[in-house]
Amino acid sequence: MNPYDFVRIDWNKKLDRRAPVWHHRLVGQKGQELFSGQLEVDVYAETPLFVADPRVIPQDPKRPARFIQNSEGEYIIPGSSLKGMLRGLVETLSNGCLTLFDGRYERSRIDYTREIPRDFQHCTDTKNLCIACRLFGTLKERSSSIFLGKVNIGDARVYKDKIYLYDPIYTKPLMEPKPHHASFYLDESKKYIAGRKYYFHHSPDYDIPTETRIILMGGRPANRYIQPLDRDTQFHFRIDFTNLEFDEFAALLLAVALEKEMRHKIGYGKPLGLGSIYLYPTRLKLVDYAKRYTQSGAGRGTTVLEEDSGLWPFLNEKIYKFYD
Ligand SMILES: [Zn+2]
Repeated sequence: MNPYDFVRIDWNKKLDRRAPVWHHRLVGQKGQELFSGQLEVDVYAETPLFVADPRVIPQDPKRPARFIQNSEGEYIIPGSSLKGMLRGLVETLSNGCLTLFDGRYERSRIDYTREIPRDFQHCTDTKNLCIACRLFGTLKERSSSIFLGKVNIGDARVYKDKIYLYDPIYTKPLMEPKPHHASFYLDESKKYIAGRKYYFHHSPDYDIPTETRIILMGGRPANRYIQPLDRDTQFHFRIDFTNLEFDEFAALLLAVALEKEMRHKIGYGKPLGLGSIYLYPTRLKLVDYAKRYTQSGAGRGTTVLEEDSGLWPFLNEKIYKFYD
């Protein structure tokens, strides 16, 4: 059985492309409310979790690779990884262009670009962007001009009293998805890709399968010797957002909060059962710039919502209002 399935994409649903509302606006072009502020989020590891440090190469087969740390020696999940994960979810759940997928698996050896309907391919015009590109920005490689996005995501830093180390393990060899197994990647018509791939969530008491050594395939290591962080390790990060239109704000909130039975996955070894995390928003600060410039006094135009002051009802209301 494959450890993943596809979230199907409805190719008939047109992407909602438009020019992004950008800096120095107090309200949108049509006078609608814009959302600016910060969302604080706790991260709970629900399975062992491993995020590699890309600077540590090559790996030493005798010593387990350690989880990535910042310059202060704190374990972190890099903001760039969190951004990639949230962007993928916005693309899938909110009908964005397929920027991360792009039809190019296995280091461009097989090109599936033609199997993505034209409308769903990368946005290239910064005045006409899908919801994912308006939120997270466009990719540099494809367009002559770029839009940097309206969301900035910091590194998730571990809580010092919530660090749990998992024993070092030799992972099972990690098989890369094989695009030539067309049935997994193309829909029944064999015309278009089936959708975006997501890994099944393993239950928290699932034992990660291991090997006893590094396995060589074609003379190259096919698995890794790593020391993951264990379940119950906790991190915290902050998302800064500026001038989000309502649909963008709701899409961002849904990508963070997800539905109850869904989980985020991040880091190395997702098919092996590593990397399930639970994101829990703890605080939302909204800054209303229109009010800020017309009122006086401390805290003008600023709203802070926390768990005991209506955070969850507020998040749910925005998400349901948009997705109903
Ligand atoms: Zn786009």
